[in-house]
Amino acid sequence: MTLLFKCDHTDIEPWLAALGAHLPGREIRIYPEVGAREDIDYALVYAPPPGLLASLPNLKAIFSLWAGVDHLRSDPELPAAPVIRMVERSMTASMTAHVVQQVLDLHTQALDYRAQQAARIWRQRDLKAPWERRVGLLGLGTLGGDAAEKLAALRFDVAGWSRSPKEMSGMVCYHGEDGLTDFLARTDILVCLLPMTEATRGILDRALFARLPRGAALVNCARGGHLVEDDLLAALDEGQISAAALDVFGEEPLPADHPFWGHPRVVVTPHIAAFSVPDTAIESVAANIRRMEAGEEPLHVVDFERGY
Ligand code: NAP
Repeated sequence: MTLLFKCDHTDIEPWLAALGAHLPGREIRIYPEVGAREDIDYALVYAPPPGLLASLPNLKAIFSLWAGVDHLRSDPELPAAPVIRMVERSMTASMTAHVVQQVLDLHTQALDYRAQQAARIWRQRDLKAPWERRVGLLGLGTLGGDAAEKLAALRFDVAGWSRSPKEMSGMVCYHGEDGLTDFLARTDILVCLLPMTEATRGILDRALFARLPRGAALVNCARGGHLVEDDLLAALDEGQISAAALDVFGEEPLPADHPFWGHPRVVVTPHIAAFSVPDTAIESVAANIRRMEAGEEPLHVVDFERGY
């Protein structure tokens, strides 16, 4: 078995160490040293140059080094081999920790207390128990599902919204366009963990904010393209949205003159909600390769028709 590796990391050593540890005895070729193209069975890549993957005649699967596959979708010659997105336990755990932190900060009015501290104001604001706070997750997949479970374990009143119907213990599940209105109407803190597709691009817009209870808060850690940024600024000005915690943006890095930077009701983090760790990422890739070698279907294959 030969695997071609192309990454965007400057420090490649931990990735090579993890490949050696989880795929012992296998040949690893590091782009651009491709060698004989017919030898390559698997590609583990970020942003391969268009046509590179199509030039590998015996490719069995393409593993994305990132959770999103936008960097592969843009290749007009993407071959027919299954594209497998990065699903790995470090990424899931870090996203859940980030979402729980943002929800707890919004629940406990951390922005208000920081402002009060800066002004030396001792004022106890209204307190709510977690079960009096309705948290809604747009997207109940690998990341949204895990965050929803952990928020439910903290006793928040959790609901989720997905494309297909679901049943998850400890929360109410809505689906499809029909379920969206009821889901939004019962959501105080809205968390977006949707994939970027034609159906979800720009979903966080003025019309959606208007369907939330007045003063609801937003957490977006999916993709910048989900949010219409000017609509959020208007909704914040009008008080329809009371606060937002944003990890992803239409333009990254966020331009220095962007109004989000200085907005008193916006928390900006620089796209750090979740990240892959070499050891657990390669552990996941190796497990999928072993499945394929045992004749089983790989896990986490992207359905390009569905869009994710
Ligand atoms: P996933 O496993 O594919 O789950 C996607 C979820 O969204 C599923 O529940 C799916 O419904 C639902 N969904 C998709 N299209 C929908 C639609 N049109 N209407 C309603 N629900 C829809 O995705 P994931 O791995 O959890 O990733 C979620 C997001 O996190 C992605 O945007 C990814 O790029 C982002 N991400 C961000 C960071 C960061 O650092 N900020 C890091 C990693 C990932 P079904 O269950 O019915 O299929």
